[in-house]
Amino acid sequence: MIKLESVTKRFGSLTVLDELSFEVEPGEKLALIGPSGSGKTTILRMLMTLEQPSDGRITVDGDYLFHMKNGNGLVPASEKHLHEMRRKIGMVFQHFNLFPHKSVLQNITLAPILTQNVSRADAEARAMSLLEKFGLAEKADAMPAQLSGGQKQRVAIARACALQPRIMLFDEVTSALDPELVEEVLNVMRLIAAETDTTMLLVTHEMNFARDFADRVLFFDSGHIIEDGPPSEIFTNPTHERTQTFLRKVL
Ligand code: ATP
Repeated sequence: MIKLESVTKRFGSLTVLDELSFEVEPGEKLALIGPSGSGKTTILRMLMTLEQPSDGRITVDGDYLFHMKNGNGLVPASEKHLHEMRRKIGMVFQHFNLFPHKSVLQNITLAPILTQNVSRADAEARAMSLLEKFGLAEKADAMPAQLSGGQKQRVAIARACALQPRIMLFDEVTSALDPELVEEVLNVMRLIAAETDTTMLLVTHEMNFARDFADRVLFFDSGHIIEDGPPSEIFTNPTHERTQTFLRKVL
C-alpha cells in the first residue's frame, strides 16, 4: 500500500533520513518509535506531501506520490496529481490544528463539503455519526476553545475520518495532553482499528499503547531503521543495543 524506496531527506547539511526503504501492507497498524530527532515525523510529513524527499521514491497504491509517469520516464508530480494522492491520506497532529472560529460540526464538515462535493446534509450526518461514536455528540455546536485537550483531539481525529481516507497518520497525538486525557484519545484510535481496515501509521511515545495496538513496530535512530518487527519481539527481545538502551529509558 505504501512503499518507500531509498528515500533520503536533507534539511541543509543535515541528513534526517538516509536511503530509507520499507513497505506498509494494507490495513497494517504500524508504530514508528525512536529517539527525538530520528526522523519519524518527517516520514509522516512526506506521506502527507508537506515535505518533499531530497531523493528516492514513494508510492501509495502503486502510484508515485511526488512523481508521475511520462512515457517511459518520470516527471515531478503536478499539483492536481498531488491533490488526488492526498485524498487517500488523513493526518492528525500533536496540536490538533482545529479551526478556532468554527464549531465542532463545522470543523468536521468543511473539508468533505469543499473537497469531496458531499452535500451539507450528508456531511453533517457523517459528522454526527462520528461524534456519537467518539462520545462527543453533545459537543457538535461547541467551539474548540470550550473543549478539553482530549476532546479537541477526538474532534481532530473525527475530522480526518470524515474524509474517509484509506491511510491515517497520527503524529504524537497524545503528547500535548494531560495524562488522564490520553486514554480517551487512544480509545478512539482503537475504535477506528476495530471498525475499519484503515492503514494506520503512528509516531508515538506511548510505548504501552504501541505494544498493545501495533501489528508492527519500526525503531528509528539517526534516519535509519534499526529494528523492524512485531511488538512482542521489539519490546521483549530487541536485538540492537540502541533499541535496548532506548527502551530501558522509556519503559
Ligand atoms: P520527535 O520525536 O522529537 O518529534 P522525530 O523523530 O519525529 O522527533 P523529526 O521531527 O522528523 O524527528 O525531525 C528530524 C530532524 O529534522 C530534527 O533534527 C529536526 O530538527 C530536523 N527538521 C525537521 N523539520 C525541519 C525543517 N523544516 N527544517 C530544518 N530541520 C528540520
